[in-house]
Amino acid sequence: MNEIVCKSIAELRGLLLAKQVSAREILAAHRQHASELEPKLNAFNCFTFELAERQAERVDQMVAAGESLPPLAGVPVALKDNICLEGYPTTCSSKILERFVPVYRATVVDRLHEAGALIIGKTNMDEFAMGSSTENSAFKLTCNPWDTSTVPGGSSGGSAVAVASGCSVVALGSDTGGSIRQPASFCGVVGMKPTYGLVSRFGLVAFASSLDQIGPLGRVVEDVALTLQAIGGPDRRDSTSLNAALPNLLTGIDSDIRGMKIGIISELSADGIDSEVQNSVQAAAATYRQLGAEVSSVSLPNAKHALPVYYLIATAEASANLARFDGVRYGYRNLEAQDLLTMYCKTRQEGFGPEVKRRIMLGTYALSSGYYDAYYKKAQQVRRLIKNDFDQAFQNFDLLLSPTSPSVAFEFGAKTADPLQMYLSDIATIPANLAGIPGISLPCGFGQGGRPVGLQILGPLQADARLLRAAHAFEQATEFHKMKSPVLSAACARS
Ligand code: GLN
Repeated sequence: MNEIVCKSIAELRGLLLAKQVSAREILAAHRQHASELEPKLNAFNCFTFELAERQAERVDQMVAAGESLPPLAGVPVALKDNICLEGYPTTCSSKILERFVPVYRATVVDRLHEAGALIIGKTNMDEFAMGSSTENSAFKLTCNPWDTSTVPGGSSGGSAVAVASGCSVVALGSDTGGSIRQPASFCGVVGMKPTYGLVSRFGLVAFASSLDQIGPLGRVVEDVALTLQAIGGPDRRDSTSLNAALPNLLTGIDSDIRGMKIGIISELSADGIDSEVQNSVQAAAATYRQLGAEVSSVSLPNAKHALPVYYLIATAEASANLARFDGVRYGYRNLEAQDLLTMYCKTRQEGFGPEVKRRIMLGTYALSSGYYDAYYKKAQQVRRLIKNDFDQAFQNFDLLLSPTSPSVAFEFGAKTADPLQMYLSDIATIPANLAGIPGISLPCGFGQGGRPVGLQILGPLQADARLLRAAHAFEQATEFHKMKSPVLSAACARS
């Protein structure tokens, strides 16, 4: 049964339709695999197998009745632990929400359910999605399945590990500054941040609302496209969700990309980018040329300001969003305090970890009167300049290329002492969040110690289908997606 954990969505669907395997058997195989790996990898905050069992039963009844199967029928999915699922804790890997059990579920969860998916658990993350290595979780360290002495990236590290190790076929993460793409890159899987507003944020615990976006991770581009198709589209419960109907992301995914104009972002091609990463991206550009694309370099002169702009805007929004965790309405409360103010202070002092506190302080400072114009307002103005650079670039190019991250996965503890070093991990991913445009990361090579390298493709607003098509073309022309993390290839070999 173990080979089941290596399958794609299309392969599982074929097996279900041919009645060669049942949804309950698919679930059992993943359950066993995930339970075996969890002590080694620590990808999950909790499992939700009873829920998945009920969903699998429903799928098996549909198969038995000869009903047409929904698109993700029988597909095991993991959810980042900042996405609400009623009846199970949604902790954001924070002590302050450790015992918070939402009474409602996110729109994406409703949609996964309608699509026939099996939700198997909630994944570990950096506390409140603040971080790039999942080391800011208040609970545990998640290991990269390619090399367990290295971090999986973050903040959606648990989701990337679940997929790379075969515990789930796909997973959902959230991306505020790179938190889907960067862990996908470190773990050798595909991860996509859709256009801002394409996927509803209802039921996602907010970090920085103007940047946050839910998106899928999978082992192949088609699985990412199918999952995005299932979760995307307008939602009246999220006022920032796009009003336009979701286009079909699968039609044309395998058409060729001849004549496409692709720009390599020059500011993200040299200084500060490890040479092994640069080489893989250059090789990817050559592959695109062979596929008939016109590839040349493009400059985004304001991209260099993205990091400071992000750390003002994201922290300002976070300081406002996290004000609600006061010990009264959610989760953890200090019970010894004798008065209300002390209770607030002690609850927040004990409930939040150091990175979250650092950001609340930074954000509060940036928003305070007298500093607002100098910091927050200025950051919003530079954000517009970055957006203008992209608009300009997309007048001449259909898509842009860069590395996803300046390096491959690093060792535990390598960057924890210096927050600025950690922040630099997101230098290539943050501009897309500031501009609201879609971005995808896919495997494009291997660096030091056989650790995966990720290629980032960016496109204009609502060009999500174009991104998927270009990513799919690259995947078809290369072998990187066939390389599996050691724990997954061992499971496949055992069959
Ligand atoms: N690593 C970035 C940060 O720490 C991005 C996080 C994210 O995308 N949620 O803010």
